[in-house]
Amino acid sequence: MTETQPTPASAPSSHVEEHRFEAEVDAVLRLVINSLYSNKEIFLRELISNASDALDKLRFRALTEPGLVPEGSTLGVRLEPDASQKTLTIADNGVGMTKDELQKNLGTIAKSGTREFLAKLEAAQKSDVSQIGQFGVGFYSSFLVADRVEVVSRAAGTNEAWKWSSEGTGGFKLAPAERTEQGTSIVLHLKEAHLDFLRTWELERLVREYSDYLSWPIELKKEREKSEEAAWERVNKGTALWQRSPKDVTKEQYEELYKHLSHDWQPPLAWKHFKVEGTTEFSGVVFLPSRAPFDLFAPDAKHGLRLHVKRVFVMEDADGVLPKWLRFVRGVVDSEDLPLNVSRELLQDSRLTKTIRAQVVKSTLDLLADLAKDRPDDYALFWKTFGPVLKEGLHFEPDQAKKLLPLLRYETTKSETPTSLLDVKARMKEGQTDLPYALGESRAQLIASPHIEGLKKRDVEVVLMTDAVDGWAVQGLSEVDGVKLVDATKASASASGDEVDAAKKESDEGKTKALRDRMRARLEEHVSEVRISTRLTESPACLVLQEGGLPPHLERLLRGSQPDAPKQKRILEINPDHALVAGLAALLEKDANDARIDRYVDLVHAQALLAEGSPPENPAELAKSFADLLTESVGRA
Ligand code: ADP
Repeated sequence: MTETQPTPASAPSSHVEEHRFEAEVDAVLRLVINSLYSNKEIFLRELISNASDALDKLRFRALTEPGLVPEGSTLGVRLEPDASQKTLTIADNGVGMTKDELQKNLGTIAKSGTREFLAKLEAAQKSDVSQIGQFGVGFYSSFLVADRVEVVSRAAGTNEAWKWSSEGTGGFKLAPAERTEQGTSIVLHLKEAHLDFLRTWELERLVREYSDYLSWPIELKKEREKSEEAAWERVNKGTALWQRSPKDVTKEQYEELYKHLSHDWQPPLAWKHFKVEGTTEFSGVVFLPSRAPFDLFAPDAKHGLRLHVKRVFVMEDADGVLPKWLRFVRGVVDSEDLPLNVSRELLQDSRLTKTIRAQVVKSTLDLLADLAKDRPDDYALFWKTFGPVLKEGLHFEPDQAKKLLPLLRYETTKSETPTSLLDVKARMKEGQTDLPYALGESRAQLIASPHIEGLKKRDVEVVLMTDAVDGWAVQGLSEVDGVKLVDATKASASASGDEVDAAKKESDEGKTKALRDRMRARLEEHVSEVRISTRLTESPACLVLQEGGLPPHLERLLRGSQPDAPKQKRILEINPDHALVAGLAALLEKDANDARIDRYVDLVHAQALLAEGSPPENPAELAKSFADLLTESVGRA
């Protein structure tokens, strides 16, 4: 490796281009520069990590472009502290960057959702840079320790080098430069307060701590005795961590691998190291992050594992080996059998990919099962963060329902702490034959919902599902260990474990026949049927779903994106024992032409909507009806 030549002082100034940073980069840099983050040293990990990636990319390209790596050159990373200049240089002879790439990579942030994320952070006045670590500020972390940064880079396969330089605010300059070899040198002009990072023992310690597992040699320039020349010394051990036996890998080393793969600055929650030998061989590590990336629910966010073939880095975010419902998982797989020139398309159809994917799914679900068993508090944290994503698996891979079941957690009418369905099943009441659940927007709304009042009265525990994904996820889960799961808001939900009194039912039917006919006619546009309820105890009426119907909160969501989706009619159930229902039936019997009857029927329908948390169809009209009714009753008082 050779050192970067300084830009000739005579370079014509007309060659220097000035550029402004994109607004997002400006915001990130402001956060970094003003940060009180005490762990400044992470800049070194980020820069070495980038250097290692650049070397990975070069080796990969060299497979098909043989002349790319000059003969006799040893690929690696070099750290050079210079006490007299107060600079620290991190140099690699990897792929390097063209002028355009320098401008794009170090002047913009190509991540969807960045703007929204930064706006939120700035509004919250959180200048804590550890927050932005989660989307990988990578290179920009240089400005934690340096007040000026120069990047000299020469893209592999080209003859020209360019220098990018910036003081972190406003913009950057681009000028022609010289470099004898492909690769990138980052020169940090250290702030006075951070001259510590010129000490070789400090740098050595940091490399050991952060970058030991990287397989590229990381060399440090060390001054010798006066008479001797400075010499380069390798400071990392460097065998691919996943190739080692798990007992030879420390917790810290796993954590550093995670940080390298994820750009997350927080340690992972848990991990699993796997090695498969047999007809096909591969190894890898899967990690569970301890917090969500900012783009977990962004539709176009990338996911996948880092793919290596025989130690050679091949692809970032290989999604063929990781299903979307495990998109929170970070990790690496290294296959002995895939071809080095594997493409994304090839990866999608390959039989080997399916084997690797199955192993990744198994390792992840085993890891989650262990976490749930051994560290329930950490599992609860995981569930809170990633539960909604994991539940998508019920829908996309119902085959996994058995393995997913013990991992699911829901609130219930009896527990505000999310609980396993297996526990809910274990404490079912004598004689209870199925497990009821209710879908809705919030716990409060569901608890107050008339649909479950009968169940509550009989002390039956109801599972409360309030995530947007629950409506379709739960369809992948028809039973809990032999007990049927039933939607308590559906027409077919049986009154679990309760005897229906046939004689009473017949008499109720008779007493309300005329009323039900009248209601059916009046509410024809809104409901498909009016019938006697067995689930109500306190409320006069409620609306229930027909088989295959969409719960009202999901229908509203759908209508948000598809305004002309057909409106679905539900069944209105009335409570024959409620005074309002009985009174209305009596009023009707006395005088079918009484003008109040239709108004009251409308009100019964409107209050059924209100009670379940749905907006009434015509709020202004409803408000007027209420006011009229109140006026009448005040007048009578
Ligand atoms: P990230 O590494 O998360 O993409 P960075 O801000 O650290 O974000 O870097 C932005 C981009 O700049 C990288 O994706 C890479 O393309 C390029 N880059 C950074 N450092 C180097 C390097 N040493 N050699 C080549 N390219 C680099």
